[in-house]
Amino acid sequence: EHSKQSMLEDLNQYSNIKNVIGVVSGKGGVGKSFVTAMIAVLMSRKGYKVGILDADITGPSIPKMFGITRKAMGNELGIIPESTANNIKIMSVNLLLDKEDAPVIWRGPILANTVKQFWTEVVWEDLDYLFIDMPPGTGDVPLTVFQSIPLDGIVIVTSPQDLVSMIVKKAYNMAKMMNIPILGLVENMSYVKCPDCGKKINIFGESKLNDISKEIGIDILGRIPIDPVIAQLVDEGDFERFSCDCLMEAAEKINNKFAN
Ligand code: ADP
Repeated sequence: EHSKQSMLEDLNQYSNIKNVIGVVSGKGGVGKSFVTAMIAVLMSRKGYKVGILDADITGPSIPKMFGITRKAMGNELGIIPESTANNIKIMSVNLLLDKEDAPVIWRGPILANTVKQFWTEVVWEDLDYLFIDMPPGTGDVPLTVFQSIPLDGIVIVTSPQDLVSMIVKKAYNMAKMMNIPILGLVENMSYVKCPDCGKKINIFGESKLNDISKEIGIDILGRIPIDPVIAQLVDEGDFERFSCDCLMEAAEKINNKFAN
């Protein structure tokens, strides 16, 4: 019932999506949306047609990062996604709610259904990459989302503290259970760079990323520093202007995997 083929057939006739990549984390607040947005922007800078489906329904942050406050409109074809300044297509529950700050208190099945509609009823048109900002954690909601969208691969976002508490292994095990190829690990908030001398400071101590990567046999795609300049761009809704080459290699690796 949940075969990949049937999920692809669910897609409306106005959407043609080549590659669907989920971005997951074992818990909230590690920068999953940040990483989703960063890889999406890098792919778009490479000239690909990119969309972001914000499946983090109870904590949607994608529209705000890109400064999108307009509401999505529908027409006879379906729901029309919003576009960023550089034409990344965005769909998020925040584009449907009247009040952005209203809490979403829907129960699990409704959350999952909404995400499913973002897949089936949004007019994505032609996309090379659709990135899914998955709900955080490894509970019921992320699991249902996993089962309702045909992911071609997933990226696991971790923070240095996750690696200590083994939260990353939960995310890894969930993806494995779902039989979805894991593209690699991204460690966010890995370090800070001293603004005066440029020295990297590992504020959480020596990273365990290499060890865990070896242990579970999953590639490291990249490490992102805590960057106050980008944090400010996020707050200003100007994320698309970031400059940081920290995930350039990650984008390249993902691209090599899916290049036709
Ligand atoms: P998640 O999606 O995992 O809940 P977010 O991506 O929303 O987490 O990140 C949480 C907050 O931390 C956001 O305000 C985001 O802008 C900020 N943030 C995340 N990663 C970084 C980073 N590397 N440098 C600076 N700020 C960051």
